[in-house]
Amino acid sequence: MAPGAAGDVQTYHDLTAHEALLLLESDHRTGLDRDEARSRLERFGPNSLPQAKGEGAVRRFLRQLNSPLVIVLIVAGIVTLLLDEVVDSSVIFGVVVINAILGFVQESKAESALEALRSMVHTTATVVRSGAQQRIPSEELVPGDLVLIEAGDRVPADVRLISESHLKVDESALTGESLPVEKGHVLLPTETAVADRVNMAFSGTLVTSGSGSGIVVGTGGETELGEIHRLVGSTETMATPLTRKLAKFSTQLTVVILALAVIAFIAGVAQGESATDMFVAVVALAVGAIPEGLPAAVAITLAIGVSRMARRRAVIRRLPVVETLGSATVICSDKTGTLTENRMTVQSVWTVDGEVAVAGDRASQPGSVGGAVHWCLLVGANCNDAWMAEDGTPSGDPTETAMLTVAQHHGIEPRGLERVGSLPFSSERQYMATTHVDPQTGDRLLMVKGAVERVLHVSTHQMAADGTTEPLDEGAVMAAAEGYAQQGMRVLATAFQRNPEDDALDGLVRGEVHGLVFTGLEAMIDPPRATAADAVRSCHEAGLSVKMITGDHATTAAAIARHIGILREDGDGSVLTGGEIERIDESGLPEAVERASVFARVTPEQKLRLVKALQSRDHVVAMTGDGVNDAPALKQADIGIAMGVVGTEAAKDAADMVLTDDDFATIEAAVEEGRGVFDNLTKFIVWTLPTNLGEGLVILVAILLATDLPILPTQILWINMTTAVLLGLTLAWEPKEPGIMARPPRDPHAPIFGRPEAVRTVLVSLLLLAGSWWVYRSERDAGASIDASRTAAVNVFVMVEAFYLFSCRSLRRPGWTAGLFANPYLVAGVALQAVGQLGLTYVPAMNTLFQTAPIGWDSWLRILAVAVVVSAVVAVHKHLEIGRAARETGTSTARHARTTSRRS
Ligand code: ATP
Repeated sequence: MAPGAAGDVQTYHDLTAHEALLLLESDHRTGLDRDEARSRLERFGPNSLPQAKGEGAVRRFLRQLNSPLVIVLIVAGIVTLLLDEVVDSSVIFGVVVINAILGFVQESKAESALEALRSMVHTTATVVRSGAQQRIPSEELVPGDLVLIEAGDRVPADVRLISESHLKVDESALTGESLPVEKGHVLLPTETAVADRVNMAFSGTLVTSGSGSGIVVGTGGETELGEIHRLVGSTETMATPLTRKLAKFSTQLTVVILALAVIAFIAGVAQGESATDMFVAVVALAVGAIPEGLPAAVAITLAIGVSRMARRRAVIRRLPVVETLGSATVICSDKTGTLTENRMTVQSVWTVDGEVAVAGDRASQPGSVGGAVHWCLLVGANCNDAWMAEDGTPSGDPTETAMLTVAQHHGIEPRGLERVGSLPFSSERQYMATTHVDPQTGDRLLMVKGAVERVLHVSTHQMAADGTTEPLDEGAVMAAAEGYAQQGMRVLATAFQRNPEDDALDGLVRGEVHGLVFTGLEAMIDPPRATAADAVRSCHEAGLSVKMITGDHATTAAAIARHIGILREDGDGSVLTGGEIERIDESGLPEAVERASVFARVTPEQKLRLVKALQSRDHVVAMTGDGVNDAPALKQADIGIAMGVVGTEAAKDAADMVLTDDDFATIEAAVEEGRGVFDNLTKFIVWTLPTNLGEGLVILVAILLATDLPILPTQILWINMTTAVLLGLTLAWEPKEPGIMARPPRDPHAPIFGRPEAVRTVLVSLLLLAGSWWVYRSERDAGASIDASRTAAVNVFVMVEAFYLFSCRSLRRPGWTAGLFANPYLVAGVALQAVGQLGLTYVPAMNTLFQTAPIGWDSWLRILAVAVVVSAVVAVHKHLEIGRAARETGTSTARHARTTSRRS
């Protein structure tokens, strides 16, 4: 039977690797043939999980009705219907349906945005096909493929292991067991439970250490993960702290308003008003005062923020981070690949007898090197996990490809020696080790390459140019390494040992191996990214401190940090090494971490401590990471950022945001967008609340005065629905204000609705109250019909809102400075709203539906006068606020400048 086919219950843990290979017609050296792989892909389909069946459309639509506001509306609609007010009740039900459609559409949009983002981050797998190693998208894996996995990888399919070295896998995604499981390729009895099948690696689990190879036995839905996926399905939530806060605020507001409505109803009826009239009045009060557009506007603004960030190559994985980004105060960035290009080239090879310049990637004199240089390059080329792709380009980790390349240019075959064992590189160990057989002598060889101090630690001898060995002169080697580091170069040392102990690799881990022969140093450059210096400067201007956290040597790190402006020329005191961090006690750490801006030779565990130390000083920390062990620090950080290109799946999994280009400048861009999103949210709230408050007040006053309502419930619904969509929502597309990166970060604890916003809301709503009453009364006094007078009052609300919208385009500057056409949606929205108002006022059908009537030009002049007065008052208030804020910022900037200068 075809393996993996539907209905197939073939298990593999109870077969030997050889049997599994036979069954799947594959080969443990060459893997599948390419053509065979292609035809299997057609047969089995892509290696991706079948789309989980989400909620049905109908249920989703109905769910939109499950909000306090809608329930209020539905009850109002039913009662209105019972009172025989058919037109009113149909308008109310119309609004309920429109509201649900809006919510439904907005939710689907947000979901498809998230879906698109997910597909932007691809996962790849390393396979051997037709004998050649290559990286392919994980979706293209088929049963029978020979895959290689290493620390940080997500296991791309269900795999029967063939070989492994120190392989440990975190299977919590599958089994819930949080401790990594050690894997081996032993044969197991058939009845072994999934959690105990140590000779298998399952799709979706994470390799935490070591490496291995295996044969794919199940892909896509035919994996253990696929099984679970079918059972559970998955839904992504779109909630953020802010949306939650606002949802709570809306609910509380609804309760207060309902209570007010009930009191008003009872008071009115007690005074002898008819219950019907009072009911209409309190419905008006309720629908007017509840900000129905708020949740949708917030969600849409966030969704727009997400897509703006994606366009700037920052993929958001968890929505709350869009908000958090705007208040980040510290960015902790990796060096290699984020601040630098991660394009390494070996510049020099140094041995105890001097330096050989190898100028870029060309050989000085190809094939001419011997003795120590030869051995240095030989170790570099064999103690190496990079590989030559079919077209002859080296692939893999840039440090390793640089070492392969330079060796190849000197006539040394990359990975030419047969390897019998390996200890892969890890950031904690800072070295890699392999064992080989020397084909000429038959000797076994232990080769080590890595950070200079690590390699020297296990070496006792050094090799001279002529190939003889002598006792190690550690001081000379360290001095040479320091010299390269000062030029910002990364330096790796190499060493080897002939016929080591049998378990030399384990011995190294235990720290029991010594006596290696140091062969030389390879110094490589990795140019800083062209954009890094500007991005760092911009962060500094925005009040963010930038810290470099790297596994590299302190001197190298400091040289690069100086180059891109993280470290000032004279900032000697601000470099901390991992060793120094270990010696500082917990209580002193926050202060020390705050002061330093470069952290070198840092292990992933220390990264976690650094994040916590910064957070203890109220910092909002953005932290980048790429390795498997960075995951805890990424989770702890307020904004965990993973590298999309070089990052491991483990890091991406733990991150809130993934950079598709690994570039530091992208983080800065994301912070800028985050600030923009928050601004636009605030603008919407500041714009929308005065209308609700104003409407509520108008109705309340009418009830208290026991007089006709100047606006009817259906008219209020018209105002709220049309203006929220046509006017308010367009604020989500407002471009970022200039100078957005010249302000200090937003205090995350500061209320979104501060004093100036509250004052303005009250001011505008009182003006709306006075304005609408004045216009309404003037109409009545001039003998206009009640319908025409109400139409005029409705137009007051809409026109004031339209004028006020322009003021809200900027919270900090006069509205007119925002540039009229910078936001075409806004202009189009205002135009459409104007058409709508003319329709409401003059189209007979709408007159019937909304109980409106045509009004004359003198009424329009009065309406315009109110709008102009409101705008003038708002402008004056804003001017005063801007002046006050400038004075405050002046003092806080001065304070900020003082703290920054103290820090550096
Ligand atoms: P960061 O992205 O944090 O700046 P980094 O690349 O500088 O990372 P690591 O990758 O953790 O830091 O490397 C730490 C040290 O380990 C390096 O300075 C180097 O000496 C050594 N090293 C790096 N890559 C390898 C490798 N592939 N094999 C052996 N040693 C390595």
